[in-house]
Amino acid sequence: MSVNTASGISVPQPTGCSQRPILHERGQHEVFCGLTGIMWLHRKIQDAFFLIVGSRTCAHLMQSAAGVMIFAEPRFGTAIMEERDLAGIGDMHDELDAVVEKLLKRRPEIRLLFLVGSCPSEVIKLDLGRAAQRLSQRHNPSVRILNYSGSGIETTFTQGEDNCLASIVPTLPPEPKDAPANLMVVGALSDVVEDQFNRLFEEMGIGPVRFLPARLADDMPPVGENTVFLLAQPFLTETKRALEERGAKHIPAIFPLGAEGTTQWLKAAADVFNVSETTFESVVEKPRERAERAISQHREKLNGKSAFFFPDSQLEIPLARFLYEELGMDTSEVGTPYLNRNILAPDLNRLPDSMRVSEGQDVDRQLDRCRDDNPDIVVCGLGLANPLEVEGLTTKWSIELVFTPIQGYEQAGDLAELFARPLNRRTRLAV
Ligand code: SF4
Repeated sequence: MSVNTASGISVPQPTGCSQRPILHERGQHEVFCGLTGIMWLHRKIQDAFFLIVGSRTCAHLMQSAAGVMIFAEPRFGTAIMEERDLAGIGDMHDELDAVVEKLLKRRPEIRLLFLVGSCPSEVIKLDLGRAAQRLSQRHNPSVRILNYSGSGIETTFTQGEDNCLASIVPTLPPEPKDAPANLMVVGALSDVVEDQFNRLFEEMGIGPVRFLPARLADDMPPVGENTVFLLAQPFLTETKRALEERGAKHIPAIFPLGAEGTTQWLKAAADVFNVSETTFESVVEKPRERAERAISQHREKLNGKSAFFFPDSQLEIPLARFLYEELGMDTSEVGTPYLNRNILAPDLNRLPDSMRVSEGQDVDRQLDRCRDDNPDIVVCGLGLANPLEVEGLTTKWSIELVFTPIQGYEQAGDLAELFARPLNRRTRLAV
C-alpha cells in the first residue's frame, strides 16, 4: 500500500506489521526522566534555552548528568519551585514571568525558549502552556516560547526529545504553495552525522533535505503536503503524529545503524524520490564498504555472543537488529519502554522469532530472566549496571548509545566497538 503526496510522489505504508507475541509488563521500572534529553538538545539547537520549572532534585540531576562547570553558561537552567510554590501560596505565574524576564535580559542571544515541565510542576498542575503563550506574546518576535513535559511521571528519557520536537512542529512555517516534494530528516543527530547524510542525499539528487531540529531557531524546516520524512530516531511517536497532522508523510524504514541499516534507510528515501538503482549503488558503494570493513573488525569477537536489553532508551529494537544481522550476536530478550509497532515494524520484522520482545518493565522479574539467560553483555540504565557488574555480568550503559554519534556509515565501526569494548575489558580483567 502507498499514499501520494500533493506533488504526486508515492510513499509506501508499513506492511506486515509484526504480529509476534510481546511480553507486556507493568511494574516498577528503572529509567531516567525526560529532562535528560536537554543534555543533547541544548547542544543541537544553538540559540535555544531550556528552562526547567522544577525542584532542586531536577537541578541536581541536570547539573551532575551534564557535568557542567558552575562557571560555564549552559543553555539550560532550573527555575526552582520552593515549598511555598508547591503549597500554592505564591503566584507561580508571576514568579515565572520574572525569571524569564531576567534570563532574557541577561542572555540576549536566546531566540527560542522552552519551558520544561517536571514532576513537581505536573503535580501542582502548573499550566506551562498558558505561561508559554503569555510570554510569547510579550517577547514576540525576538524570542519564541514553547513548552513541553520532561516529567518522570510521564516520560522516559528519550521521550523528552519527542515532546520537545512535537512542541516545535505546530510552529514550523508552511511550505510554499506548489513546493516540490521535499525530504525532512527528523530526530536530533550530531552535526557530523547530519552533514554525512546531507552529502549522500545530495549525491543522489535528493534535495533540498532539511533537518528537524535545525541548528538555529529561525532555520526550522517548513512542512506541508509535499513533505516526506524519515525518522532518524525510533522514539518520536508524538513528533511523527504532529508532522502527519501538518500533512507530511512518513517513510517507513529500518533505522540507520550499521552498514545494512544505513543502506536500507537511505534506500527507503531513494525509492520515494525515484533514484535509479545505478545512481543509488554508485553513491553508497564506497561508504558501505568502509562501514562493512569497520564492523568486520569487531564481528570476529562478537559473533555468537549473547546480549540482553533492559528497557531504557527505546533504541533497543533497532540495536538488537544491528547486533543480530550485522554482528552475528544472539539477543535473548530485547526490552523497550514503549513499542510503537508502526514505527518499529521494519526492524521488528527482521528479528528472529526466538528473540523475546518485552514492553514496559517489572524490574525484579526481568532481573530474574536476565540471570537465568546469563548473557555475555547486558545493555541497561545506569541504575542497574553496577549491581549487575557486581554479580559478574558485563554491562553497557544504554545512555552512552544515545550520547554517542552511532548513525550512518562512518559511525558503524564505533557502534560495533561500543559493544566490543566492555567484553574486551572483562576479558582483560579476567586474565
Ligand atoms: S522531573 Fe521528576 S524524575 Fe526528573 S529530576 Fe525532576 S523530580 Fe526527578
